[in-house]
Amino acid sequence: MRNIPPIDLKRQYQMIGEQVSAAVQDVLTSGRYIGGPSVESFEQQFAAYMGVSEGIACNSGTDALYLALRALQIGPGDEVITTPFTFIATAEVITAVGATPVFVDIDAQTFNLDVTQLAAAITDKTKAIIPVHLFGQPVDMTALMDLAETYGLAVIEDCAQATGAEWAGQKVGSIGHVGCFSFFPTKNLGACGDGGAVVTNDQNLATSIRQLREHGMVSRYYHEATGINSRLDALQAAILKIKLPYLEQWNVARRELAANYHQLLKPVPGVVLPQEQPGSWAVWNQYTLRLTQDNSSGRFRDEVRRQLQELGVTAMVYYPLPLHLQPVYQKLGYQVGQFPVAETVCHEVLSLPIFPELSFEEQQQVVYRLKDCLILERV
Ligand SMILES: *Cc1c(COP(=O)(O)O)cnc(C)c1O
Repeated sequence: MRNIPPIDLKRQYQMIGEQVSAAVQDVLTSGRYIGGPSVESFEQQFAAYMGVSEGIACNSGTDALYLALRALQIGPGDEVITTPFTFIATAEVITAVGATPVFVDIDAQTFNLDVTQLAAAITDKTKAIIPVHLFGQPVDMTALMDLAETYGLAVIEDCAQATGAEWAGQKVGSIGHVGCFSFFPTKNLGACGDGGAVVTNDQNLATSIRQLREHGMVSRYYHEATGINSRLDALQAAILKIKLPYLEQWNVARRELAANYHQLLKPVPGVVLPQEQPGSWAVWNQYTLRLTQDNSSGRFRDEVRRQLQELGVTAMVYYPLPLHLQPVYQKLGYQVGQFPVAETVCHEVLSLPIFPELSFEEQQQVVYRLKDCLILERV
């Protein structure tokens, strides 16, 4: 019985390896390793793909978010609203600029911020909202932008897991004031190392972000602000330039895989499947279902996962503990039970293998083996 990994980056490399190697070779022989033509042309290519005027490459998705907050002049005394059900980076950057993360519960269908609960969390210190298009499912950006406009708040989209996704026909990242992307290898558009980008239509913000990513430098060795060093390597830019033209077909492949899982898993009781919402074009960075048998401790889900692993299928848990209950955020004073939906789904979620090169036969195997585990667990 063949093992099925959660993601296999070697398969993608087999497909485009020759092109990637040639691009890497070009950079190596060019002698331009930081900045230069490959970075600049990737920035333009990425901005054009997103349908925005400005693309700024940087070292990671985390830095993209950090730079966006800094450029918006968010800092000590400010509050930024976000979801407690996300990767730590989303909230970590709020803390890193000296502001306070304020969490709002999520919607169980989409795993995203519950937009209807946002207004209640807004205070006179609130400066921005960071919606996260988690697992590649877009947030309802129409409702969110309406609200942000009403209260005069900046919107920073965390698109780390949603490169290429659309809400109402528009690419996520181009709807808020700033969009932040990660090119970590397992994201929909992944580099061969770390990388990230910020996109925006606001030229002043873009200028500020360009300066902050390079030590706050306005002209050579003149510094107006305390910045950081967060550049995208020329090598990574060259690799991303090769990969970007494939993104659409890779995302289409993920959508087909998600539809297959949906068909194969539909009649299984106790399994709640993720579903694309009307108005969205989801890109399925993860296919995350909920096992609703025992949602008080996560023991049932953990046991299913363990048995699945014994049968050669690696399923993942994104995420086992919501951010408001993380040790690092004890000091914010949140309580158990405060965000019941986020807390419950942390005990239920299981992400099945999904990546563009996964075969239908492998998906069938994942589902057969998952069904076996569910039957075993019940008796
Ligand atoms: C991956 C990720 C990030 C951070 O991106 P890095 O490139 O790893 O720094 C931020 N937010 C979310 C939701 C992510 O999944």
